[in-house]
Amino acid sequence: MSFLIRNRSMIYLLSFLFITYTSIPATTHIDPVFEPYIRFIPNSMFNLIDDSHLVVKLGIIKDKEVVAFCAKEYNLLGTLTRRLIVFDKDYWDGFSYTKRQLTLIHEFQHCLFDKKHDETLRLDGCPRSLMYPTVLSQACIDRHYEDYLLQLL
Ligand SMILES: [Zn+2]
Repeated sequence: MSFLIRNRSMIYLLSFLFITYTSIPATTHIDPVFEPYIRFIPNSMFNLIDDSHLVVKLGIIKDKEVVAFCAKEYNLLGTLTRRLIVFDKDYWDGFSYTKRQLTLIHEFQHCLFDKKHDETLRLDGCPRSLMYPTVLSQACIDRHYEDYLLQLL
């Protein structure tokens, strides 16, 4: 399970092999609320997403340090059976369009492509990668938005 957290330089990258989201269907379902944020993704990638047994939804995450997370479930043979991204509704409500979008894409990178965190900074102090372990500041998003966004593609 990979968490995107709010604070400072805290780094959480936790992996749980077995989780108990038993109510989640094994078919891809992305809550329509996210649709405007992922519209830019090309159809070829959506085919992959359709086959990935991915559920993306808003929820209440009890640990208020956690903004969003990706969880994967495996069967006893080690085959990945489903993936889940939960975005905390309180953070969602408080985030700008671009911060919502890049946070979502960050979790897609974990869940679909097994991307790990990257703490490298640019010369201007902004993270080089969308996979920085904490939520990007709005100033850095505004400065490097397109570059971050295109890191998914
Ligand atoms: Zn992360």
